[in-house]
Amino acid sequence: MTKRKLAIMCAALLIAGAVTGYYLGTSKPDKVLQLATAEAAGGKVTSPTGTAPDRYVYYPGTEELKPDEIRLIACGTGLPAARRGQAASCFLMELGNGDKFLFDIGSGSMANIASLMIPMDMLTKIFISHLHTDHWGDLASLWAGGWTSGRSGPLEVWGPSGAREDMGTKYAIDGFMRTYNWDYMTRAALISPVPGTIEVHEFDYKGENEIIYQENGVIVRSWPAIHGGDGPVSLSLEWKGMKIVYSGDTTPTKWTLKYAKDADVVIHEVMPMPQDMVKFYNQPPERAIRATCGFHTCPPAFGKIMSKLQPRHAIAFHWFNEEGTRYNQYDGIRSAYDGPLSMATDMMVWNITKEEIIERMAVSTDDAWDVPGPGKPSAPDPNFPSQYTQWILKGRYDTTKAESLGTKEFQEEFGVKWPSK
Ligand SMILES: [Zn+2]
Ligand SMILES: [Zn+2]
Repeated sequence: MTKRKLAIMCAALLIAGAVTGYYLGTSKPDKVLQLATAEAAGGKVTSPTGTAPDRYVYYPGTEELKPDEIRLIACGTGLPAARRGQAASCFLMELGNGDKFLFDIGSGSMANIASLMIPMDMLTKIFISHLHTDHWGDLASLWAGGWTSGRSGPLEVWGPSGAREDMGTKYAIDGFMRTYNWDYMTRAALISPVPGTIEVHEFDYKGENEIIYQENGVIVRSWPAIHGGDGPVSLSLEWKGMKIVYSGDTTPTKWTLKYAKDADVVIHEVMPMPQDMVKFYNQPPERAIRATCGFHTCPPAFGKIMSKLQPRHAIAFHWFNEEGTRYNQYDGIRSAYDGPLSMATDMMVWNITKEEIIERMAVSTDDAWDVPGPGKPSAPDPNFPSQYTQWILKGRYDTTKAESLGTKEFQEEFGVKWPSK
């Protein structure tokens, strides 16, 4: 570099520095400088030591909900086939009155829920739209994981009946408890039986806009969905004059058109375009078109529903959202709908008030631990029988001396004795 060029560069840098310094020092930056601030990312940094509270990311556990605000978090937006980037269906609704509800808890979704680091005692109410595993497959993880890490009471599950007793939610949860009997018996003996209980509230799948939950100013209603067989339902949550609809899995229904008419937010399933089911999901064309349009909702049908409902915000989930699919998906929806739309993916967050709806992404940890809540752990039941026989215990190699020595500091700090007896 010549001396002349170096001099010109230095002069340019000095001028740039002086200009920037000047503008940063004024309280009314001009438009050009505003673009250079963080405002372009949805927030504004006003001081080098300050914060940008309105950025388009949501950091869990850092934001107080307003008394009239709903925070909706997509903890699963994908399909039954497992993928690390998107779990199966699950939406968490957090209300400004402190209530939290899970709408479906599909396979893989528990890792996303856990990444929000919400105390387990606050995650006890689950509404299940239907009994496909991609809508309730991670109930086991919430049930057992929450039991080991601080939930003090039972879970409560609301779910539909079926055309026969063996197709209903009560039958499914009874079967769940039988399947996980060994898990239940051992944890009940070692921890406490109480958090391992599941209370089932089965409601009639044929109910049309019927109230299935009403407490603390919150109303949840159900109406039939058409998907694979009788039983699936669509759900709505009403609170403080706002209404959120969650379709579950369904073809378009007249019921949704009727009962979601006045909704603020409609979360509706949508399958990938049939050509993408062939290309990416290895489905034969006949099956692809039947799956997308026959017992689910395909993108143009999703668009049609939303154009009829005209919600304040539409959310499209139940598809693999990636470069390969999202343009076909978007064009399919937009062929029939031009209103507000979120192409959902996992960890998308919406803050909903009567005034505005904001979409952001949650930035949460891959290495979450459970966090304690205000509750106290359930007391162990001294009468619950040990699940060991004397025969198996005879096989234990005695390491108690090493354990006692190696945990000396712990025992002193917490005033516990090991071996205890
Ligand atoms: Zn399904
Ligand atoms: Zn599904």
